[in-house]
Amino acid sequence: MAKASKTKKTEKLSFQAEVSRLLHIVAHSLYSEREIFLRELISNASDACDRLRYEALTKPKLTQGDPDFCIKISADKEAGTLTIADNGIGMNRKELIENLGTIARSGTAAMIDKLKGDTKEDINLIGQFGVGFYSSFMVADKVTVTTRKAGAAGAFVWESDGMGEFTLREGERPARGTTVTLKIKDDAKEFLEPDRIKHIVTTYSDHIPVPINLLEGETSDRINDASALWTRPRNKIKADQYKEFYHHVAHATDEPWATLHFRVEGVIEYSGLLYIPTARPFNIFHPDRKNQVKLYVKRVFITDECEELLPSWLRFLRGVVDSEDLDLNVSREMLQNNPIVAKIKNGLVTRVLNELKKKAEKEPDSYAGFWEAFGALIKEGIYESFENRDDLLSLLRCHSTTDEGLVSLESYLGRMKKGQDAIYYITGENAEALKQSPQLEGFRARDVEVLLLSDPIDDFWLPAVGQYKEKPFKSVTQGGADLGNIETPKVKKKDDKKSAADDAKSAGEMGDLIALLKLTLEEKVTDVRTSERLTDSAVCLVADETGLDMNLERILKQHNQINQVTSRILEINPDHSLIQSLALSAKKKGAQDKLEDAALLLLDQAQILEGEPVSDPVAFSRRMEAVMAKGFI
Ligand code: ADP
Ligand code: MG
Repeated sequence: MAKASKTKKTEKLSFQAEVSRLLHIVAHSLYSEREIFLRELISNASDACDRLRYEALTKPKLTQGDPDFCIKISADKEAGTLTIADNGIGMNRKELIENLGTIARSGTAAMIDKLKGDTKEDINLIGQFGVGFYSSFMVADKVTVTTRKAGAAGAFVWESDGMGEFTLREGERPARGTTVTLKIKDDAKEFLEPDRIKHIVTTYSDHIPVPINLLEGETSDRINDASALWTRPRNKIKADQYKEFYHHVAHATDEPWATLHFRVEGVIEYSGLLYIPTARPFNIFHPDRKNQVKLYVKRVFITDECEELLPSWLRFLRGVVDSEDLDLNVSREMLQNNPIVAKIKNGLVTRVLNELKKKAEKEPDSYAGFWEAFGALIKEGIYESFENRDDLLSLLRCHSTTDEGLVSLESYLGRMKKGQDAIYYITGENAEALKQSPQLEGFRARDVEVLLLSDPIDDFWLPAVGQYKEKPFKSVTQGGADLGNIETPKVKKKDDKKSAADDAKSAGEMGDLIALLKLTLEEKVTDVRTSERLTDSAVCLVADETGLDMNLERILKQHNQINQVTSRILEINPDHSLIQSLALSAKKKGAQDKLEDAALLLLDQAQILEGEPVSDPVAFSRRMEAVMAKGFI
């Protein structure tokens, strides 16, 4: 009763709202794989050992007297408790509150806001980021964490039933580390059976490089292999083990799409086990753009924040890299501008690019899945990485007006028409909507393929790269259409009927209308001209050859990088019946007044086709009413 006699204050604290929500879903959903709670707790214990091992490199005192890391599991059937204890780094009071009361991982809280209740969809969403420590509440009514930070004198006890609050009090622990005790739910008693525990550990945690011991009565048995997975020979590792290690390092729950396990010997020596996920991690577009690969030196975890280990555009990679050459005492600062790290980085980039190339060639369907998930990152690479640009361009895939699936630039070149001297593209928010753009009509009529690009980054890399194999990239919504030189049977037939004299006449016929439109629209457009790119629509907008492309302007405006979009060129279709009758009216006296509404409506219409708001909705509907009244009365 000695302990009880010391009066210790117990504080009550609330979970961050997102954690409460998460816990509610975790506890109430019939999660099919409840056993993964053990994997999560072991994973945390192993991370805690990794972190202390690193700290102890410079502060050996921290592990003095107890240098061997281990994780101990014990079950007490009578008390109905399962205990997971480690001698890792432990937590102080502040860390306890932060780590087990909030969700710190970037983007996760935002993700939880999307959860709706205890639906199937939520489980899928949760599956994407893993619930980590909080998964203990799937099997426990109450969780008690007693922890003592390495180097500190006192311990703290965290306790919760997962219902919105947790308590905190001072406690005791003979030495550093963390003990998690679960009061197992009645319907989860299976997790107190030693055989069940052993099975779970060998299934999910065999690769954990810290020995895991199961205590049964007086005996203590090691139940995992306890050697780092990447140090084992490839032919000794089963697919499932690779997968489980991926789940551990990546905090992921999907299947790895590709697994690269390698050892490099020579001038520098390192090994690596890298994964490309199947599913896009939910926070991949977080602005910090940090790579996620862990750096080890001679089996000791150093950091998962070595920015120079991989370029940002490879941040979809997960896994570990283990160097033999770096000094174990390397501080995280010393990793900056480090020539060994730079060499490793080059090696890794080449290795990943080769793997992607191989997959793109040999398994195009599977590669298409990769592209849907991570293509936007490869495009970032095209934009940022001059030295890998050609390789990355060969990996590029996109939708186009010609083919159903994804096409490569190489195959586009093969389909170019006689007289075509550019690679045409259009950018916008989604490929399906882009297909309907009026600017594509003339290209479609001539069978000229246009690439449909819908990642925001497209508007940056295309102008930056400028060309592919000496063919310039050209936006179909910018500058002249230059379709005149492209010969295609369809268009030829159409042209046969018209003589050159007809064309001249039609240009003359449009003259008055164009002059009138220019006068009425004044500053609203920079120019009005007849169009080569329209066949069905009456009008469209295009950007000036020398200015910014329209979609880029829209993106910049959304991000407040520019205040106002510059005015555009209005193109009119001389073959369209509406334009032809307007052209006739334009020749008559007093046409300017009569056609003013029509001119403004044409511009509004062109803006709507661009998916842009009309500039003055009230005036727009008034004009529309007036025109309708004329038409129907
Ligand atoms: P994650 O492991 O993805 O960070 P968790 O929910 O599993 O998320 O754990 C949250 C945090 O709590 C960890 O990042 C770590 O800082 C801390 N933590 C959990 N378990 C332990 C432990 N056994 N020893 C030390 N710290 C721990
Ligand atoms: Mg964890």
